[in-house]
Amino acid sequence: MIQETIRSIEQELGGAARLVAVSKYHPKEAIEEAYAAGQRIFGESHVQELTAKHAVLPSDIEWHFIGHLQTNKVKALVPFVALIHAVDSERLLREIDKQAAKCQEGGRVVDVLLQLHVAQEETKYGFTTEECDALLQSGVWKELKHVRIVGLMCMASNVDDEKQIASEFATAHKFFKQVKETYFAVEESFRELSMGMSDDYPIALREGATLVRVGSKIFGQRIY
Ligand SMILES: *Cc1c(COP(=O)(O)O)cnc(C)c1O
Repeated sequence: MIQETIRSIEQELGGAARLVAVSKYHPKEAIEEAYAAGQRIFGESHVQELTAKHAVLPSDIEWHFIGHLQTNKVKALVPFVALIHAVDSERLLREIDKQAAKCQEGGRVVDVLLQLHVAQEETKYGFTTEECDALLQSGVWKELKHVRIVGLMCMASNVDDEKQIASEFATAHKFFKQVKETYFAVEESFRELSMGMSDDYPIALREGATLVRVGSKIFGQRIY
């Protein structure tokens, strides 16, 4: 079942976006099943759960951290994480840089996405487009040699209205293109737009997503 779902999602994506299989709260056996279907990118949103799974699962898995990240948890993540999706403050960006600089000989460079707040819902997380632009305009990120901004991430409102969802994703895509042009025109690495979950990834795909984060559709309902 897991394998079939992954194959059918991959077909829908048609190579236009990569699938992040969101395995949070699911046991390692579920991940192994997805891995057997060829899935290599997995997303988790709790640091402890991620480090525990990383320790016992195949080393060619690309682990993405998709949740809200607290600065005191950064250290455990930076030695192996492939992409941090939801950087929502300059402070967090600086902490990732600091920990990545000392996590191994010579340090490593950790790829991150800046989280945009485009949904109408109240949430504490994510930059407004104005805040995000101000951070980029400030240029501070250019001095952070151990962190590389490779794109943007967002979540749409949790509503049934597909028009509203599409319009939020479209806002993110438009802003993404502006940022690319203004700050990263010559950086090939700036190319990721992470948006879309189980209920709305087809819409996100139409609106320009390059990474979709799909959990329950692949692994079933989570037990919280
Ligand atoms: C849990 C989670 C997902 C996956 O959600 P599903 O609805 O299960 O597909 C995607 N993105 C983030 C940030 C999440 O926390």
